[in-house]
Amino acid sequence: MSRGLVLVGAGPAGAFAALSAAFRGEEVTLIDPRGVLGGAASRSAGVVTVQLEDPMDVRLVLRSIELIRSVAKSSALRTGFLQLGREEDLSESIAALRDAGVMHEILTGSEVVGRWPAFRVDRDLIGVYTDLDLSVEPPALGLELMEVLEAQDVRVVKRGVASFATDGNAVTGVVLEGGEKIDHDGLILAAGSHNRELLKLLGIEIRTRVITCYAYKFDLGEELEIPSFSDELLHSYWRRWGTLLVGGGYDAEWADAPDYSSAEPPAHYVRRSLEMLLQRLELRREPRYHSSLRGPCELTPDMDPYLGRLDELGDVVVVGGLRGYGLMRGPALGEAAYELLRSRGSGVLTSDELERLRPSRLLRTQRRAV
Ligand SMILES: Cc1cc2nc3c(=O)[nH]c(=O)nc-3n(C[C@H](O)[C@H](O)[C@H](O)COP(=O)(O)OP(=O)(O)OC[C@H]3O[C@@H](n4cnc5c(N)ncnc54)[C@H](O)[C@@H]3O)c2cc1C
Repeated sequence: MSRGLVLVGAGPAGAFAALSAAFRGEEVTLIDPRGVLGGAASRSAGVVTVQLEDPMDVRLVLRSIELIRSVAKSSALRTGFLQLGREEDLSESIAALRDAGVMHEILTGSEVVGRWPAFRVDRDLIGVYTDLDLSVEPPALGLELMEVLEAQDVRVVKRGVASFATDGNAVTGVVLEGGEKIDHDGLILAAGSHNRELLKLLGIEIRTRVITCYAYKFDLGEELEIPSFSDELLHSYWRRWGTLLVGGGYDAEWADAPDYSSAEPPAHYVRRSLEMLLQRLELRREPRYHSSLRGPCELTPDMDPYLGRLDELGDVVVVGGLRGYGLMRGPALGEAAYELLRSRGSGVLTSDELERLRPSRLLRTQRRAV
């Protein structure tokens, strides 16, 4: 039977695409065996910052912030964000903020310490401060988003898509594990690092790779009055949540398949992140290791996301390739995926950017008949 629009994957991209569609009055089915934001997003460190180096990314995050704030009650806190580094290291991200018209302050090292005495910052460093940025608890955001989706009558199916129904090359429906078939009049594939397995079922190979990313939570035992922050010199990022700091040193490893194990990370990763914190912050006691986060991230060879149609599949839009920046860019890209599917433009993206993100650039081989 037809269920209107079908979305495969309820990560930030799929779940917010579903929400955009539901607000437009569409009948929507959102399919994910791990539930809403239960995949990589649930392992995410929860940093949402406009301080990125590409003006397109800055605009995507600006829109994502609006979308997240439209559903979050207590799962997102506006902490602002401070990027620390040498002037030359931060010039691209300052230019991107200017380009996107985002208000920001450029502070000397002593101005940073004057405003937030908990920071240890050398004189030759500067800080760039923006105040829109969010600290997000992803599992709590998943629950709040689920409530809004249900209120909009989105049907959330907690099962996996096992295969597709096709008519010639065009995809006409999805088949769930267990055999139930759901037809659609529009399909968005937003299964993150699983997109490549799903596309393989349709005879399409895309050149994406999967890495396992790690982040850590440390308990400071006190609430510091500081913004969330990143550090170009020590190569680490942190968000503040109560007495916790969540983040780390961008630790990641190549993986053959998406890894959701909850095994402890290598001890030296945790130790290095702790050392970075101790170097940058003036603390009364040593932070206590709380827990770690580990999950899959999807990379493209050029590091850009992908968004668009694969022509031969019919009414299907694919979106993904969000690397370790998908909680902050996924909501806006999901909305753009929906707008694109229904040919209403693409949200915040220009036509040149859409061309840049076209998924066909990742095709390894031409499609085989299935
Ligand atoms: C340790 C760690 C820290 C991170 N920190 C940050 C951060 O601070 N800020 C940030 O912006 N990003 C961060 N990320 C990255 C972010 O989590 C991802 O970029 C983002 O979740 C990708 O969104 P997505 O919607 O493309 O995919 P996902 O979130 O992976 O969602 C895809 C969904 O598809 C589902 N799925 C898979 N197969 C099927 C199937 N067959 N049928 C139906 N559904 C299926 C999965 O269960 C999953 O829920 C971090 C990631 C990790 C692992």
